[in-house]
Amino acid sequence: MLRLASMEISAITLKSGHSTDSVVAGEDWRALLARAIRDPVELCRQLGLPEELAVEAARSTTAFRVLVPQPYLARIRPGDPNDPLLAQVLPRKAEMADAPQFVCDPLHEAGTVRSPGLLGKYKGRLLIVASGACAVHCRFCFRRHFPYVQTMYGHIWRGVFEQIAAETSIEEVILSGGDPLTTPDCRLAEIAQQLSEIPHLRRLRIHTRLPIVIPQRVNDELLAWLRGTRLATFMVVHCNHPAEIDANVAAAFSRLVDAGVPVLNQSVLMGGINDDAEVLAELFGRLVDLRVIPYYLHQLDRVAGAAHFVVPEERGRELIRQLRARLPGYAVPRYVRDTAGAEHKVVLE
Ligand code: SF4
Repeated sequence: MLRLASMEISAITLKSGHSTDSVVAGEDWRALLARAIRDPVELCRQLGLPEELAVEAARSTTAFRVLVPQPYLARIRPGDPNDPLLAQVLPRKAEMADAPQFVCDPLHEAGTVRSPGLLGKYKGRLLIVASGACAVHCRFCFRRHFPYVQTMYGHIWRGVFEQIAAETSIEEVILSGGDPLTTPDCRLAEIAQQLSEIPHLRRLRIHTRLPIVIPQRVNDELLAWLRGTRLATFMVVHCNHPAEIDANVAAAFSRLVDAGVPVLNQSVLMGGINDDAEVLAELFGRLVDLRVIPYYLHQLDRVAGAAHFVVPEERGRELIRQLRARLPGYAVPRYVRDTAGAEHKVVLE
């Protein structure tokens, strides 16, 4: 069932087995990010989870550390080791298991680097790694081993703009990361301005999970520069389970859509999290109610440490067929697989 929060935007109280924390009314997204939980033992303690789970999480934590901001933590059911939101952020020993086909760079992105911080995967589009930081660390992330320091070393924005200006076939730029919205708005406004001065550029796409994990990120400053650019601007958010959508997230979507920014959602199909027709129907139905278009359901990329989340493709196809029988066509995303070196994503169903 959708656990749409009864809590008000003005105050969210997190109840846990051992302590109480809260999101202060109107708290700035930077302050929320600064005090995100970075310790797996503390995460388990705040959620009242068994000590064995905390020990397992601590032993399974690698260089890809725990990062969970309070607004997201507030949506995890205290005391439930199987909570689908917890499963996305808590390191488990399954991450350490040997899975030979699961590798550090499943999409061979290293081979797509054009210049520091700039990736060219598909025709007519370039992807800027605008930030190496995220507001949450998702255990299934295909970039969980991404060499941000090396890829962005020597990253000079002027060089990025010059490269895009020199390639007249480029119509669209994607701001990605990490999460590009970890960058301050004054800087993002400058970047949008520089990009808008490149005559052949038509569209700007922003890939972000911040409106989901810290919905307070969708503030007036963000909306101001989104509204101000001549580029057609799209925001692609990332939500995997209906319990991720609380009243604050719904309000953030409304603000974006009301500002004229089309919002699309991509999800990753994951065992134990959303490999269920009821859960997916609730997620996609809820998204369209909020005027967010379900865009892609991704087959999990084969990244090392995430093999325990994989769902067989035949099961994914079956789920999409079930969704088609119960949702309007625009509410059913395309089920896709990313393949290294391919000209486009492969549509599985
Ligand atoms: S890039 Fe996106 S999916 Fe990966 S850890 Fe950051 S927020 Fe999560």
